[in-house]
Amino acid sequence: MLEVRDLHVEFRTRDGVAKAVNGVSCSVDAGETLAVLGESGSGKSVTAQAVMGILDSPPGRVTGGQVLFRGQDLLTMGAEHRRRLRGDRLAMIFQDALSALNPVLTVGAQLAEMYEVHQGMTRRDARARAVALMDRVRIPAAKDRAGDYPHQFSGGMRQRIMIAMALALEPDLIIADEPTTALDVTVQAQVMDLLAELQREFTMGLILITHDLGVVADVADRIAVMYAGRVVENAPVRDLYAAPAHPYTQGLLESVPRLDRKGRELHAIKGLPPSLVDIPPGCPFHPRCPRARDVCRTDRPPLFPVAPGRSSACHFWQETLDAGRGGS
Ligand code: SF4
Ligand code: MG
Repeated sequence: MLEVRDLHVEFRTRDGVAKAVNGVSCSVDAGETLAVLGESGSGKSVTAQAVMGILDSPPGRVTGGQVLFRGQDLLTMGAEHRRRLRGDRLAMIFQDALSALNPVLTVGAQLAEMYEVHQGMTRRDARARAVALMDRVRIPAAKDRAGDYPHQFSGGMRQRIMIAMALALEPDLIIADEPTTALDVTVQAQVMDLLAELQREFTMGLILITHDLGVVADVADRIAVMYAGRVVENAPVRDLYAAPAHPYTQGLLESVPRLDRKGRELHAIKGLPPSLVDIPPGCPFHPRCPRARDVCRTDRPPLFPVAPGRSSACHFWQETLDAGRGGS
């Protein structure tokens, strides 16, 4: 349904040109959840913004690639057509609901407006739909609360309202950028469960952008791991958890607590992600990689096919995979 091909995005910064996205390819089918995982600065949010056409914080620009939505390139189609698709068929959920919602409109009015503007409903019908939707995302006493303003809701409830806004027009695809990061842990789980449930119910595609591997295990079908503006591993979630095929993924897995590997020590990945103005030659992960060898410092690894539906941008993906299977 959505296919990103060889996307490149650059930003001009004080220190030079930041290569935020360097040839990202990924796809998501109807009814599928793709998690895009990476540290901050890995290019995951910028990729999403390029897809949604909201790379507005100038001077970021797409310098190459395609974003195909049902076979049509969002980057080159006419502005009106693109605006309509992005309004009705694609929706986005942000980390910070408070700044994404209109502070001076009640949440009921904001939701109702979607139905009035996009579906030509009467105000009365639109209001009724808005309340039904608030109820569907489990906002208690939805009818009464429709008259409240965004700041009158808790963080978790506001995020439910964001989900309702995104769902209102029954889009084909939702992109959720760190939708639960600002919430405390129990509320995070509730909101994530709700999102997963609605995604199944509406058979939407969902792209879930997160830095938190713990969040994605239960909800994602596939994971694309990003590093320095590239996808370094792309795999079905179960395969990736069973044995990562990239040392960076392996490092991420070793740094989160896992129920199935109780008693193991947690190791944070040493060092910091590179500056996007000055990405290391060869494999961008080599300065931090415990498996790095000479070839890694000179030759940039392409995405090697590892198995059907699985790829890794590591020269030594096979030994990484074997080590993971052997439990080391
Ligand atoms: Fe590590 Fe080399 Fe693989 Fe890069 S290519 S992840 S440096 S082993
Ligand atoms: Mg981000």
